[in-house]
Amino acid sequence: MRALVDCLNDWLAGHREDAGAYSLLIALTQETLKRVDSPSAAQREFDAQDLASAAGRPEADDFDASKRWVVGRGLETYASARRQSIEDHFRAAGHATCLRPARRSPGGKHRAVWYLEQYPLPDDSAEAIAADPPPAGRGAIHATTVQYEFTPPGQVKAVWFSRPLIGAGSFLTKSWRGLLWGAALLVPVAYLVLSALLTLDFTQLRRPVQTADLATLIVAPVLAWIVWRILVRPMIWLADDRIIPATELWAAWSEANAQLELTKDEHDRRRLQLVRYTAVCPVCAGTVELRYSQGPNTRRLVGCCAEAPHDHVFSFDRISRAGRRVYAEPRCNG
Ligand SMILES: [Zn+2]
Repeated sequence: MRALVDCLNDWLAGHREDAGAYSLLIALTQETLKRVDSPSAAQREFDAQDLASAAGRPEADDFDASKRWVVGRGLETYASARRQSIEDHFRAAGHATCLRPARRSPGGKHRAVWYLEQYPLPDDSAEAIAADPPPAGRGAIHATTVQYEFTPPGQVKAVWFSRPLIGAGSFLTKSWRGLLWGAALLVPVAYLVLSALLTLDFTQLRRPVQTADLATLIVAPVLAWIVWRILVRPMIWLADDRIIPATELWAAWSEANAQLELTKDEHDRRRLQLVRYTAVCPVCAGTVELRYSQGPNTRRLVGCCAEAPHDHVFSFDRISRAGRRVYAEPRCNG
């Protein structure tokens, strides 16, 4: 058993991923490794709270929160989507059996437990694979819906220089912060206007053109374009679309994928907030993050799986927090 758990541990070390299911499988493997010499197999079964605590999750204090976290990570989906890679690794290491995460629900008041289950490595000859496609393909490929999880304002950290503006993660647009926001936006807009005036001014030039003039003519529009793309256009899109990806200008650099959202609160006041919508990919259990679509409508936000951003793509409905798989028409260049 120890050799098998070590082998799975090796595979995990070589296939690092920023997905909840990955940290969950690491936790399960490490905990199993600690008790691998125990004669009782029940010692190598762990409930949701054990696993959340081993993975260093904040939910570990509370059993229900731990259970929600563990169940929502798609551990079985994760392992079955990568089954071929794991089995090849075990085969190359000379093993005849392989490990996969399994779940047992005893029912009643007993807690569900997760453990590493041994199963014989299947025949990897071409005929055997053709006769029996891996089960990963059967259920997972037809997984077409995704449910987004919402991280409320206040739990997504803002970058230090935008903290005076965004405060605790949310503010009313009709407030002193809203005014400050508007004033801050006036600076790049003023810069754009000045650049346009400067360029026009060159047409009135009554002396020979100098190198410095040419340099200004090139640098000013480039800077203006950058200011437009980074500062002004996102704010126009935010007002139009209600939600935009929050760039490094707003979300702390340690925060993966956050969004700026305009909502109305219970008193019908507009509120701007820094939030996060994320999901677990139903195909491979990778992390689904919101990005702009590359399809015909490039302003549409879609959920892209971090592991296969062009293949595992889901629509995003901010109101229902649900999405369906989007199958883009494959286009080949050349
Ligand atoms: Zn995926």
